[in-house]
Amino acid sequence: MGGPKNEESCKKVYGRQLFFVFLLLGFVFFTWPAMQARYELACSTVWAVVITELDGQVVSTTSTPYQQCEWITTYSGGSTPPRDQDRQPEPGGGGTPPVINYDTNNSGFVDCYQTAIFHTTSLTITSTCEEVRGSVPHNALDLWIPNIDGKAAYSVCNGTVEKVDAQRDGNGALTGWGYYVEIKDPAGNIWRYAHLKGTNVDPSGVGLTKGSQIAAGTSQVGLCDSSGAQTAHLHLEYWKDGVKTCPVSKLGNCSTKA
Ligand SMILES: [Zn+2]
Repeated sequence: MGGPKNEESCKKVYGRQLFFVFLLLGFVFFTWPAMQARYELACSTVWAVVITELDGQVVSTTSTPYQQCEWITTYSGGSTPPRDQDRQPEPGGGGTPPVINYDTNNSGFVDCYQTAIFHTTSLTITSTCEEVRGSVPHNALDLWIPNIDGKAAYSVCNGTVEKVDAQRDGNGALTGWGYYVEIKDPAGNIWRYAHLKGTNVDPSGVGLTKGSQIAAGTSQVGLCDSSGAQTAHLHLEYWKDGVKTCPVSKLGNCSTKA
């Protein structure tokens, strides 16, 4: 009398268990892909390059457009927040950031050299050409970006390495330009990059030697440091026809060749 009734309730219980098993499988099946980290290359066209002085005063802005891209990590469904090390291209997917052509008119000079030096969209002039040092004007630019120590600086021009050296005082200690590199541009003029993170063996810190070929905007001229100076910054000099010439007039106009 109780037999059929028991069988019935057994079937009911199994049915309910199977239902939950399938529900769980379905949940995992549909939500698993959503819980994986997704990567996306977000690109935007950057128009304004802002050059400011140390006090925040804007010296110039430029409007040559270029693409700036960054990898964005997106999650949907997962509760783990994105970490910095997740901001990497996914192997085999998502494409690669575009290569920026800094010399679009093949003049041998980057079109907006201020952006090419650090590959950033803004920089700060911490010392102008007019600033008087002792009795003589600086007649060069001190350039700075956040966390500049150890950052690579890139060449403003095509050319060849003219000199890689260090300036020292009578006791052999670094002074003045510290470790520095000179690049000869296509017109035969000299660009000097000073206060580099070098060594006696490799003053540029990036392995440059006299005669090394340099490409505008893409070849590193050195790593930034404070060698020979109080604080880390890049000291940039321009010697036109053998005369030290302030390079600042080139900053505001991207179509002006250096
Ligand atoms: Zn300086």
